[in-house]
Amino acid sequence: MSAAIRTPLMIVGAGPTGLAAALFLSRRGVPVRIIDAATQPTSTSKALLVNPRSLEILGAYGVAARIIAEGYEVLGVTMHRAGREVASVDLQRELKSQLPIGLAQARTEALLTEALQAKGVQVERGVSLQALQQDEQQVTLTLQQVDGSTQTVQAPLVFGADGARSTVRQALGVDFAGSALPEPWQLWDLRLRTALDRQRAHIGFQPDGFLFQMHLQGGVWRVIGNGADPLAQLPGGGVPGEIIWQSQFHIAHRLADKFSVGRVALGGDAAHIHSPLGARGMNLGIEDAWVFADCAADAIAGKLERMQEYAELRLSVDRQVVHRVAALTRLMRGRPTALRWLRDSVIPAAIKLPVVRRQILQTVAGLDHPLQARL
Ligand SMILES: Cc1cc2nc3c(=O)[nH]c(=O)nc-3n(C[C@H](O)[C@H](O)[C@H](O)COP(=O)(O)OP(=O)(O)OC[C@H]3O[C@@H](n4cnc5c(N)ncnc54)[C@H](O)[C@@H]3O)c2cc1C
Repeated sequence: MSAAIRTPLMIVGAGPTGLAAALFLSRRGVPVRIIDAATQPTSTSKALLVNPRSLEILGAYGVAARIIAEGYEVLGVTMHRAGREVASVDLQRELKSQLPIGLAQARTEALLTEALQAKGVQVERGVSLQALQQDEQQVTLTLQQVDGSTQTVQAPLVFGADGARSTVRQALGVDFAGSALPEPWQLWDLRLRTALDRQRAHIGFQPDGFLFQMHLQGGVWRVIGNGADPLAQLPGGGVPGEIIWQSQFHIAHRLADKFSVGRVALGGDAAHIHSPLGARGMNLGIEDAWVFADCAADAIAGKLERMQEYAELRLSVDRQVVHRVAALTRLMRGRPTALRWLRDSVIPAAIKLPVVRRQILQTVAGLDHPLQARL
């Protein structure tokens, strides 16, 4: 291998997508650098659910076993309306694969980081990408350290895993078209007194919106809702206690119009964002990383056309997921009134149909398309 080929591939962003890519590439023997603008890993968690597809991919790295050991199996989803259960899906009985695991995203990231460290790769923190250009031979990146000093480095390939506001995507001039829902969504991690089953996710069809509730650990639950006062109408009559973390976010559905340009590719939230319904964002990012690692290992060995192949493979899968999740979110969010009526009257009956159940199961499991690479 020539000296130029040994120059590390650069991964921008050490969220789950970037960490997973670094791990998969290291296993393929590709030298990597991974940088993150943040000086510390995040302690709060957006994602709570690692799906069976991610566990399948992470199986060979010892990470899946640790996620399963640390988290808990999610046995099903129960839907509630006006104080009673109106529908449920039993993952334990109906899913033919490993069950999804409930685990805070911060812990999934920590386990990925430890696996990466075991391969001798350290995340370079407090280093942010400012700009990049490319020619036929390489990519040139301008990096900034926390003290404000800048450095110019070269890389044979770059993976932009730098989240929804991706600097990599902007530097490539790639469009991120889509739409956003107008209302803010509230999020709480809080102690709850509730009799609801801790191993199931719970959905509330509320009169003015939608509510999601899932156990985190030790009696702390995640509650997300778009109604005026979601905590006032918790399913099963839960009584809120101490608030551990409170936040607010907006839901948008957007897709990059290209997933690669020359020697630079995009993955994870840098390439696609959608509502948390279906719990796909982090899991799709891990799968992007998996396919990218397979394609990039070949690209770095001379088959540059594999970068374009990555883009085509993932754009088709991720586009379908974003569209499906967007449609599901529009139906479930409980507004306007006509859609809320449809949700409240049609969904409990529709969920009993095998075709609908299969769609829900495959979506939650991440098994709605074949695995696109074997590392
Ligand atoms: C409420 C909520 C619940 C969710 N639940 C789930 C769930 O259950 N399951 C699921 O799969 N997904 C879920 N998601 C989505 C999931 O959290 C995201 O899809 C996931 O974090 C995306 O990972 P990422 O690595 O692509 O991006 P990020 O996690 O955003 O990481 C990007 C990283 O890039 C770094 N960065 C940014 N700019 C630069 C730069 N210029 N230079 C260097 N570094 C940079 C950032 O510091 C950050 O660490 C949820 C999201 C929300 C909001």
